[in-house]
Formats: sequence, C-alpha cells, structure tokens
Amino acid sequence: MKNNKHFDTELIHGDICDQDFCVNPPIFYSATFKATSEEMFAEMASTVRHQQFYTRYGNPTHERAAKIIAAIEGGETALLTSSGMGAISSTILALVSQGDHVVAQTNHYMGTYKLLSDMLLRFGVESTFVDQTDVEAFRKAVKSNTKLMMVETPSNPTMTLTDLVKVADFAKQKGIVTVCDNTFASPVNQNPLSLGIDVVVHSATKFLGGHHDITAGAIISSQKIIEKIWFTSVMLGPTLSPMDAWLLLRGLRTLSLRVERQNQNALKVAKFLEGHGRVEKVFYPGLESHPQHALAKKQMRGFGGVLSFILKGSYKETAEFAKRLKMLTNAVSLGGVDTLFVHAAAMWAGTMSEEQMKRSNIHPTLIRVSLGLENCDDIIADINQALG
Ligand SMILES: *Cc1c(COP(=O)(O)O)cnc(C)c1O
Repeated sequence: MKNNKHFDTELIHGDICDQDFCVNPPIFYSATFKATSEEMFAEMASTVRHQQFYTRYGNPTHERAAKIIAAIEGGETALLTSSGMGAISSTILALVSQGDHVVAQTNHYMGTYKLLSDMLLRFGVESTFVDQTDVEAFRKAVKSNTKLMMVETPSNPTMTLTDLVKVADFAKQKGIVTVCDNTFASPVNQNPLSLGIDVVVHSATKFLGGHHDITAGAIISSQKIIEKIWFTSVMLGPTLSPMDAWLLLRGLRTLSLRVERQNQNALKVAKFLEGHGRVEKVFYPGLESHPQHALAKKQMRGFGGVLSFILKGSYKETAEFAKRLKMLTNAVSLGGVDTLFVHAAAMWAGTMSEEQMKRSNIHPTLIRVSLGLENCDDIIADINQALG
C-alpha cells in the first residue's frame, strides 16, 4: 500500500487532498473546468489524465474514489469507468491490436467472453479459451503473437479458481500482459497485483459500490499502463458520472466491514447447505470440499460473499424452491447489502429443455447466492423453509 496505511484506514483517508476544507467531499458536478489564463488552458489541455479539464478526461470526484481503489489494490493508480464492461473493454482494446492473440478462460463473465470470442474476432484479434484450473493449458495456448492473458478468479457460477502466481509468473517470462477480473473476490480478500498480475479490473457495481445503486467500473495498474488505457477510454467514452463516483466513494468507506460480514455469512450458509439432505453439492472456496481449497487459502485472505449450489431433483423442483424463498431477492448482480439469488437455468427455461441445458453445461438445478448483510440466522431460516 502506497502510504503504508492499513486497508481500513485507506478506505476513510486514502482520498485526502491538500485543499480539503470539508470532512465529506463535494460532488464536482461540472462537465468542464475553467482556466484563468491562456497558459493554464494550454497546460490543462495537454496534460494526460488532467482531473479538472473536461469530465470525460477526469474529474475531482473520480480522482478521490480512484485514489482509494488504487491504494487498496496496491496499484500505482486507478481509472474509473461507467461500468465493469467499460473497464474490461477499454483495458482489452488498449492492450491488443490487429493480428494479436489472447489467452483467456473458458469460464468468464459473459460480457468478457463475448467481447473476446465475437467482437475482437471482427477486428482480427483471436482468442484461445482454456480450463482455468490447468496452468499447463495456459502455457500450451501461448503463440508467438500472444499479447494478453485474461483471468478471472473465483469465476461464475462454480467459484472456480485460477492460480494467479503461476499464470503471472509464466506470462512475465514471455512478456505477456496479464489482466485479472477481481470482482468476485473484492480487494478485501484478494490482491492480484501483489501476486504478479499486471492489471486488475472490477465491476464496481458489485462489492466496491456495495449498495445495488450504481453501475461503475475500475482499472488498477502502473501509471504507464493506466495512461495507455486512458487514451483508449477517452475515445470510447465510458465516463462515470460525478454523482456515481461520489456514491462509489460513499460505498468504499464501509467496504471492509461489509465484505467481512459477507465472508462470514457465505461460509455459514455454505456449511448449512452442505449438511442439508436436499443439496447435492455446494461450490464455495472456503469449504474444505472445494477442490481448490488449498489454492484459495494460499491466494485469498477471505473466501468471498458468493456461493452456488446444486439441488437434488429437477428444474421444476428448483423453480419451486426459488418461488418459496421469501426474504432472499431474485435478481442478478452481487456484492451488495441485500442477499440476492439467481436460478441460472431460469434464464434459458423459455428456449431450452432440461436436456438441452445439461448439454450446454447449464446445470438445471444450480442456484447462485450473493450474501448480503442481513443476520445470517434469518438468511438460513429463509433457505431452510424453502427447502421444505
Ligand atoms: C458484473 C460483472 C462484470 C460486468 O460489470 P458491469 O458493471 O455490469 O458492466 C464483469 N465481471 C464480473 C465478474 C462481473 O460480475
């Protein structure tokens, strides 16, 4: 951490700046900023990442939230965007060119996967997708034109891990840039930069914001790499609104308190589910039954607020279970104060049979839960009554 302050202290004081005269920072709701002289204007216009020139280029409210995010991820600097996909697309588009090759995982956030498999292909960038649990597969997929390795750990929906030290180590030897989507773990539980990864991306919509009220993204890396990504992002234009940057800042203040509780709730719920007769299997890196539990203990400080499980029975019985849940909210997204769940297969129920789902690796009875801040006894009671 830059100033060697503790994580929780950075969340409160990491954004301090010289001209502070209020305890809570103002929202700089201005699209553009004044110069008081011709020289000053020329300087503002030509400075990379000037934070008081034009809001698409930077904004003082962005700067404050970005300072904290850089500190808690252990990076030199951070860039904010208007969504997680804005962060991921700006990063990837800045780092690859026509004729380049990317190694990524078979398991990624859907938007990341589609960006690599469909959109980038149209611009002459090919990707190879490998099993994230197999370090050898990353090695084997590398070609002479591989420029980037994209990883995501834990990944949706089965909380599968990538060995960050091993992948980063190997990529470094080959001069390949590594990017890690750290959304599911959050910086409270995992810091990929400290394990050798070059760039971290976040959907700040999730744990960093933490209240289901903003859509935002963040990119953390060295000054040099972030400047390069900034030149791309000012062209693409995923600018975070100053109001949402302020809400992100507000959310960040309590990040460690929230995630600690979410870690605890997730572990308790995972253990409860594992002991229940109607549950076939639970996926949570904090459980000893997780096939990568040893790796989780090595690269994570906590195991996160998201888990998933497979019920015994059919799609229909799982849909009925979902219907009986009273307090848990049926909604996509994760990492916020409310406990949310999704019955993944329900998204395809209108277009696929149970057999087709199984063939497409969409488990018909899989439920994903993102634990919120409710009292865990109430969460377990709701799940228990729904299990019947
Ligand atoms: C939600 C999510 C994204 C996309 O973020 P948005 O803020 O919705 O654009 C990317 N990666 C992961 C792992 C996510 O959960």
